[in-house]
Amino acid sequence: MSYDLHTHSTASDGSLTPTELVHAAAAAGICQLALTDHDCTSGLAEAREAAAACGVWLLPAVEISCTWQGRSVHVVGLAIDPHCKILQAGLVTLQAIREKRAEEMGRRLESAGIPGAYAAARARAGKGMITRTHFAHFLVARGLSTTIGDVFGRYLTPGKPGYVPTEWAPIGEAIAWIRAAGGIATLAHPQRYKLTGSGLRRLLVEFKNAGGEALEVVSGAGLADNIQTMSHHARRLNLLGSVGSDFHGPDLAWLKLGRLPPLPPNVTPVWSRWDD
Ligand code: AMP
Ligand code: MN
Ligand code: MN
Ligand code: MN
Repeated sequence: MSYDLHTHSTASDGSLTPTELVHAAAAAGICQLALTDHDCTSGLAEAREAAAACGVWLLPAVEISCTWQGRSVHVVGLAIDPHCKILQAGLVTLQAIREKRAEEMGRRLESAGIPGAYAAARARAGKGMITRTHFAHFLVARGLSTTIGDVFGRYLTPGKPGYVPTEWAPIGEAIAWIRAAGGIATLAHPQRYKLTGSGLRRLLVEFKNAGGEALEVVSGAGLADNIQTMSHHARRLNLLGSVGSDFHGPDLAWLKLGRLPPLPPNVTPVWSRWDD
């Protein structure tokens, strides 16, 4: 059995449609796939239909943008009921924040001598969530940099011309929305927050006390020693372990769908909550 419980589609900043993503997952031998678009669930209906047709188990899910102590932190809700009104009301507030932030990013880039970024990013996002990734693709297409990673570092991160400080949901609220929707709140890619050991411990304790239940122990961008560290935290705090690539499409070559090391056997898998 192969699991990938963190992936994106064109409903947010992935480059594959939900159908294409599900087909790619089937081709990669994934049995259980969670579609976790940023702050929206609009790709789930299409993904569910495609999954039913090709024998993939699709978990309805979402990746919620949060702010914790001034940093962006992401909380994935796994096995949610996407029709839950409390969840959707929360996501609507974040969608409005995203739209306003994108407009301000456009204004700031324009002041820095780069006009047209908002319109281009808006067009790239289509009906999906607008994200910094859409701005990054525009800036690369404009020839301002050669890679998406580089463009983030030069234009879209704190202190850079296109960065807009943003207050997302408090983690306690995001966890409450996920729980209201019957889902399992999972802290995404914990190694990416560049926290000290004690900072990560504080975040995890707060996450757990607010009703968080799982930790992404195996994450696409993580290294082997991260897996050991995160397994240790999961066991210590009695959190379930999740596995997710954070796949955004075949163009980001370092994050492959389903190509992940296994969850260490001493961590209880999050799928123990719905398998059996
Ligand atoms: P946003 O939620 O709009 O702030 O956009 C965040 C998204 O940007 C993340 O989910 C990643 O997909 C992408 N991202 C952030 N930093 C980088 C980076 N250094 N290189 C490539 N993609 C990035
Ligand atoms: Mn993303
Ligand atoms: Mn994320
Ligand atoms: Mn993600």
